[in-house]
Order: sequence, then structure tokens, then C-alpha cells
Amino acid sequence: MSGTLLVDNIGELVTNGAGEGPLGIRRDAAVLVEEGRVAWVGPSASAPAADRRIDAGGAAVLPGFVDSHAHLVFAGDRAAEFAARMAGERYTGGGIRTTVGATRAASDDELRATVRRLRGEALRQGTTTMEIKSGYGLTVDDEARSLRIAAEASEDTTFLGAHVVPAEYADRPDEYVGLVCGPMLTAAAPYAKWVDVFCERGAFDVDHARAILTSGQTAGLGVRIHANQLGPGGGVRLGVELGAASVDHCTHLSDADVAALAGTAHSDGSGTRTVATLLPGAEFSTRSPYPDARRLLDAGVTVALATDCNPGSSYTSSMPFCVALAVREMRMTPAEAVWAATAGGARALRRDDVGVLTPGARADLIVLDAPSYLHLAYRPGVPLIRQVIRNGVTQ
Ligand SMILES: [Zn+2]
Repeated sequence: MSGTLLVDNIGELVTNGAGEGPLGIRRDAAVLVEEGRVAWVGPSASAPAADRRIDAGGAAVLPGFVDSHAHLVFAGDRAAEFAARMAGERYTGGGIRTTVGATRAASDDELRATVRRLRGEALRQGTTTMEIKSGYGLTVDDEARSLRIAAEASEDTTFLGAHVVPAEYADRPDEYVGLVCGPMLTAAAPYAKWVDVFCERGAFDVDHARAILTSGQTAGLGVRIHANQLGPGGGVRLGVELGAASVDHCTHLSDADVAALAGTAHSDGSGTRTVATLLPGAEFSTRSPYPDARRLLDAGVTVALATDCNPGSSYTSSMPFCVALAVREMRMTPAEAVWAATAGGARALRRDDVGVLTPGARADLIVLDAPSYLHLAYRPGVPLIRQVIRNGVTQ
């Protein structure tokens, strides 16, 4: 949309830049948007004139959420598996194969409709940037089409051919890894920015994960990894070794894992090069112990929060829900959780144009139906996102 837009009369503006506290808060503020970018941030009283105006009415305004971990390309759901789990069955990750069967049988348009529906659902809850993974096709053609469809909805697409060993390769995992590193990667890479592996007992071990991730790097993809979700293991340290942008889940960490992450700290004190992305929706939905965010934060590790939106272990697209869980269950302060859900997610995707409201950033803003960001954790389950602006466009 052409012309300038002024959002003024903002009671509390979270910038994640210059301002009060770690969230860079400014009071009685205004934001000027021009050509999809933040052009100016300052006191509401001295805001420049603009073609259009949104009066925030004293409410809080934040950068849109950056959900750096989501699996949206799939068919069917697993509500019955969830019910069984809530009746006492343990989560093993084996149910992924159920979704693989449904996804392979679905048409492109069916998959596209699911991506659009979930992307729209997330947007209404304030998510303006959302990473999307493949991982329910697990054939050369099905992974390539999953990523092609993901790329229609996101700039941050991730090749997760190594989500689980599909049933037809159950007794030949080495052969499947060869397929992932070879023809599948070649077919997927044109539509992917990242490569990811589910490194876990029952999925892929550290040696397989290393082979797949380094092949992805050679093909020009950035590294991220699902690690240490269901039990301890070498996934986090492998991620650090390979310079991953993010290691995701981090539920079962040893002191060595935490030290390895802390060891990736930038020398200027701006956090760690490898981000720990915590996904409390997964622990909620599998009734599992939560990761200890406090331990990571106290060690100086940069933490992001994401939904892990997927039909098996975390079927939520709600970043506000994850913020509330992180505060209540993971010993994060509301400020830490909101930072992790915005700027933290951006770091996990190695992006500096989102997750902040400073001049030059993409104009992704959410206006809350509340006077402060604190209400995101203080009022769980309440639809507090009044308005979403993405790329300078009112949604
Ligand atoms: Zn995941």
C-alpha cells in the first residue's frame, strides 16, 4: 500500500531496540511506517504527519511475533493420538508416520489449504514471520512439493527430510540417509533456506544427523536441528559444532550442552550465535517436563520461543500461549518471554529486519487489547491481539 501510516498514542511501545529495559520500551510513543518499513519512532506528541493514522488509544504495541519453528505442510490430524496420550500413553514420535501417510495421499491444493489456514490462524494471533518445515512427505517428490508449497507462504523454509525414517526404509536407515543427502536434498534445496534433522532416539542418531546437515550446508542451506527433546544426547553439541543458527527443543540438557551453547557467545555481549529455541507447546501437549529456560538464560544463552505447530505433538499456532507457558512453567520473566518470541525468534532465523521496531525494520506491528505486554502472560488464553500490521499493511 502506498503512502505513510502513523500509529500513535501508543501507551507502551516494545521496540527491542533503544529504550527502557531489555525490551527497549518507550512510553506515549508513535511509529511512522513508509513503504512497508519503520521510518521513524518517537514521542507521540512530536510525530510527523502521515497519509493514514491508527490511534492505539493508549494500548501496548509490539513487534509481530517471529515463530521460528513450525510444521505446517501436512494432511489429517491426530486428535485420537492426543486423547490416548492424555489417557496415559507416552509420546514417542512414532505417530509422525501416520501424518506421512495422509500427506502423501493429499493433493497439492489440500496441502496448500492447510498451510493457508494455519498461517492465517497464526497471523490473527500476531505472528508476522513464520518458518515452515517439510518433513511429512519423505520421498523425493513429496519433500520437494512440500517445500514448494511452504515457500508460497514463507521466506524461511526448512528441509526436514530427516524427520523420521519412513516405514519402507525401516530396516535400511543408512539407505534412507543416503537418499536424504543425495536426490532428496537436490530436489528440495531450490525451495529451502534451511536444513534440519530430528536427532533423537527412534529418529536419527548423531552420525546420520551430521551427514545430512553437512550435505545441506554444502548445498548452501543454513543449519538448524531438533535436539534433546525426548532424552539426553549429542544433538545440541552437534548443532554447535556445525554453527547451527538454532538448536530446538533443548528439554534434556547436560552441563556440557549448556556450556557448548554459552561458548558460541558473540564477543560484543549481544548473545550467542547458536540460539536455543524452546517449544513449550510440545511439552504441554505431550504432558512432559518443560525445558529449563532459566538455566540457559543464566548461562548467557540466547533463547527463542516458538510454537512447533504440528498435528502430533503441539497443535497450536499461538505465540501468546507459548509466552504464557514460558512464564508460568519455564521460569522466564514476561519481558524475557516476549523478547524470546520476537527478537529471539528473529535471531534463530538470523534475521535483523524482523522482531524489532526500529527505523529500517519491516513494519510488522501488533496492537494489543491491553495497556502492557505483561498481559500476554497475565491473561492467558484471552484474545489480546487487536490489530496486526504486516509489511506496513493492516491485516
Ligand atoms: Zn518440530
